[in-house]
Order: sequence, then structure tokens, then C-alpha cells
Amino acid sequence: MIYIGCHLSVTDRYKAMGETMSRFGGNTFAWFTRNPRGGKTKPVIPEDVEALKAYLQQECFGTLVAHGSYTMNLCSAKEETRANGRDMLRQDLERMELLPGNFYNFHPGAHTGLGTEAGISLIADALYELLTPDMTTTVLLETMAGKGSEIGGTFEELREIIDRVECKEKIGVCFDTCHTWDAGYDLVGDVDGVLQHIDDVIGLGKLKAGHFNDSKNDCGSHKDRHEKLGQGYLGMEAMKRIALHPALQGLPFILETPNDDEGYIDEIRTVRSWMEEQTL
Ligand code: FE
Ligand code: FE
Ligand code: ZN
Repeated sequence: MIYIGCHLSVTDRYKAMGETMSRFGGNTFAWFTRNPRGGKTKPVIPEDVEALKAYLQQECFGTLVAHGSYTMNLCSAKEETRANGRDMLRQDLERMELLPGNFYNFHPGAHTGLGTEAGISLIADALYELLTPDMTTTVLLETMAGKGSEIGGTFEELREIIDRVECKEKIGVCFDTCHTWDAGYDLVGDVDGVLQHIDDVIGLGKLKAGHFNDSKNDCGSHKDRHEKLGQGYLGMEAMKRIALHPALQGLPFILETPNDDEGYIDEIRTVRSWMEEQTL
């Protein structure tokens, strides 16, 4: 089985996120460590975090997948943006230690004109500096659609970043199905081939989590517009094949589909029904 859940708002505090996800029928979730667009954080109440920890254990949740801010760009052409990005990453990783042993996923960055090679170097430099052997969080680079000057639209780019990071046991990859499809990998016609490709280039052992999204656009569009499960170009059959793929079992998968609460409850129910079907 995979663990399934969706993005939740941290506005209602940590313990409440766990309870909300149980109500949704899921057993993992994602949240933004700070405002996804503005980058601001909210103060954390230690007792609240402790209450969530106990709750997750009691309810047998899978590993959680926090998401870094979209404004964090470790490889911007602007020095100030890069410095800000490093500060955000440093603070986020510190805060993640309140909930030890989970994943922190982020978009590698956009080089905004510096070029792919320079972008990769800057991202790797930041990770080289900030990942330490004593941290309990694993940092995940997200597979990207390759929109504009985005880094991470190919598995090779992600591998190059990982190659240059010293603390390799603290870094992995988050497989976003919409992004990977939009980047040009054929998850409909050849899911085995794409996962084999990941294995050849990065190693499936580095694949730690997934973002489970359909896409509003066709393979290779480089657009990055998520769609509800079964309503996009990936389609329900391909989504099901991915969720049940032997290489991905045990991973937490997060829905980032354009839904309200009811929509997420429905999609979580759908994914769970596939898993139940399979065990019958
Ligand atoms: Fe993301
Ligand atoms: Fe994503
Ligand atoms: Zn996306």
C-alpha cells in the first residue's frame, strides 16, 4: 500500500491537521512550512506539536511531507533572493526538527537566466552547507515540469544536485506525477519505463515520496497545471497503475489536485478502494 493524504492548512495548528486528515480518510499529509507565496511563518506551540506526534503514532500515519515556500529560490540570478532562500531553508530545517524524521520537499529552483549548470551548482552549494548528519529530516527535491528556467525537469539534473551534496543520506526525491508527465516522461504509455529511468539515473531508493496529481496538459507541455484525478491527460487508469506500482509501495503520496475538502475526501476514498481491490 501507499500512504495517501493531501495538503492541509497549518492555520488550525498541528494536532488539528492530523485529526482533519483522519476525517478525510487519509494517513499522511503535507503542509506549507510558511506562507507558500509570501514566505512568512507562524509561531509554533510546542505542546501542540507534541500532541500531533502522539496522534500520528496512535493512528499509524505514514511519513509526513512538508513543503517549502514557492518563493524560496536557491539559484535565482538575484543574490538577495538566493540569500533569502538559504535563510528560509535553514529556518525550515530547524523547525522540522520539532517533528523528527519527516520529509521536507521543495522545488529545486529557477535559474532565471544564469543557465542550468550554474543553477545546479547554486542549489547544491546551499544543500552542501545546510544538510547535516545529525538532522532527522530528509530533504526531497521535487521532479519538476521544466517550466521556464526551472531546474529539475529532468532526472539527470536532480541526480547532478544529489551528486554534489555531501550528506547524501539526508537527500532524496519527491515524484510529482503531473510535473513528471509535463516534463515529457510518458506515465500513461510506459510507467515501468519511467520508473526504470528514475532507477537508472537516481536510484529508486532515493524516491521517498510522491505528489499525486493529474495534469491539465499533455505530456511534454512543460506547463505545471494540476488537475483532479481522472479528469486530466494522465487519466484514472494511469493514476491507478502508478498508485499500485510495486516500486512505489510504502511511500507517502500527497494530492495537490484543485479540490475542496469534499473533493479530497472523494479522491482519498478512490485511491483506498484501489488498494482494497488489490488485496481482495
Ligand atoms: Fe511542489
Ligand atoms: Fe508537487
Ligand atoms: Zn505543480
